[in-house]
Amino acid sequence: HKPIHVIGGGLAGSEAAWQIANAGIPVILHEMRGIRETAAHKTDGLAELVCSNSFRSDDATSNAVGVIHAEMRLAGSLIMASADAHQVPAGGALAVDRDGFSAAVTAKLAEHPLVTIVREEIATLPPEDWDQAIIATGPLTAPALAEAIQEKTGREALAFFDAIAPIVYRDTIDMDICWYQSRYDKVGPGGTGKDYINCPMDEAEYNAFIDALIAGDKTDFKEWEGTPYFDGCLPIEVMAERGRETLRHGPMKPMGLTNAHNPDVKPYAVVQLRQDNALGTLYNMVGFQTKLRYGAQKDVLQMIPGLKEAEFARLGGLHRNTYLNSPILLDGTLALKGRPGLRFAGQITGCEGYVESASIGLLAGRFAAAERLGRAPVAPPPETALGALLGHVTGGHIAHEEEGGKRSFQPMNVNFGLFPELEPGALIDPETGKRPRGKAKSIVKKQVMAKRALDACKAWLGA
Ligand code: FAD
Repeated sequence: HKPIHVIGGGLAGSEAAWQIANAGIPVILHEMRGIRETAAHKTDGLAELVCSNSFRSDDATSNAVGVIHAEMRLAGSLIMASADAHQVPAGGALAVDRDGFSAAVTAKLAEHPLVTIVREEIATLPPEDWDQAIIATGPLTAPALAEAIQEKTGREALAFFDAIAPIVYRDTIDMDICWYQSRYDKVGPGGTGKDYINCPMDEAEYNAFIDALIAGDKTDFKEWEGTPYFDGCLPIEVMAERGRETLRHGPMKPMGLTNAHNPDVKPYAVVQLRQDNALGTLYNMVGFQTKLRYGAQKDVLQMIPGLKEAEFARLGGLHRNTYLNSPILLDGTLALKGRPGLRFAGQITGCEGYVESASIGLLAGRFAAAERLGRAPVAPPPETALGALLGHVTGGHIAHEEEGGKRSFQPMNVNFGLFPELEPGALIDPETGKRPRGKAKSIVKKQVMAKRALDACKAWLGA
């Protein structure tokens, strides 16, 4: 077979190369470290962890990250095998000795007879005669290649920072307080005039919220030094600092909204949430990008009436990041539309985190290998964690026409909000015939989704 080229030997590229080589196909892995540094990596080892040494929860019975760990193990993941071999104690989390982990990944690939590692920077799109290639150059993709990608995909299609608004599980929003309504009942394309969930605030609640925002613990922002904020992407705490009324005239403006539970009292301010995924299980907080620290952020956001019990699929953040508008640009097998055989993998596709990046690398590697073997790539079913995450980056996300035409696709970790809803009755206990309620319901739901995912993954891998 002709080799498949993988650009970038991080979490995603290393996993992709391993999957390709284990399918019996030669692979050339191009990694620039050793020749050229990034702003975050410190070594020239493959799959270097640039920050925390944690792969997060390893609980495959009720945690979406744990489920993706288990699915990757089933799929023969090099990243998971190396993590398991270099685990350090971390309670229910999977944490690793970072040097041992990276050395193991590097050695396994270097020893593989079908893998060639080349230390070089790739500064252009892969040439046409690399008919199969995967770009896995990560959040810190070197500038020349990033420019080449932008030239191909369009300037708006590749972002260099993310500006993430928190995302809430819809079924944790208190609809006795909130109501569905679009501002001025406006019916947009595909809309109903009731596209937003609205959380009302009175004056005292608003003032307390602004005080908490200003007092909240901020991330110290090394990554951001010298970087101006984008217009229209100001963090809410920065808006709050500019003036007590700024948010009430911005993302929290109450105009054109009538509280369905209390039509006679005009809300002083309103927080709006908008459907984020096609399944309708996730809602994002409109205009609420923030760099408050996670702990403080949750406390402040839960002050919003209607969100007191909210569970967050993703908290807000602002980071240096390089990522594509993948739902528009990539097909269901991660290939660039209009350039078959050129795939993207890892964080550049709009997933977030070590494990997620590696898992998208795993899929890109398997898809490319299948094509090289003359087979049609088969995507994992959406019930699996792998399929759910693939759905987020290749199509599950709803692209909203933001005010000012700003793109709305933002990176995300794997979470149960990305999984299709369960069949009616799936939560009923077969022994008692009873449905769980309250907190128990959310736990049982996660357990049933986790089991469904692993069963579907086994069936996918067995087919
Ligand atoms: P990477 O692991 O970054 O791999 C990309 C590789 O491509 C690198 O080795 C790079 O040298 C190489 N490369 C880039 N351009 C070229 C080129 N033109 N030619 C050849 N090679 C090239 N995630 C977490 O889960 N936990 C954390 O605590 C965490 N902290 C982070 C902190 C920072 C400062 C940053 C920037 C990211 C952090 N992340 C964290 C995200 C994490 O980096 C990614 O989830 C993960 O490493 C992405 O994997 P990847 O393979 O897509 O990219």
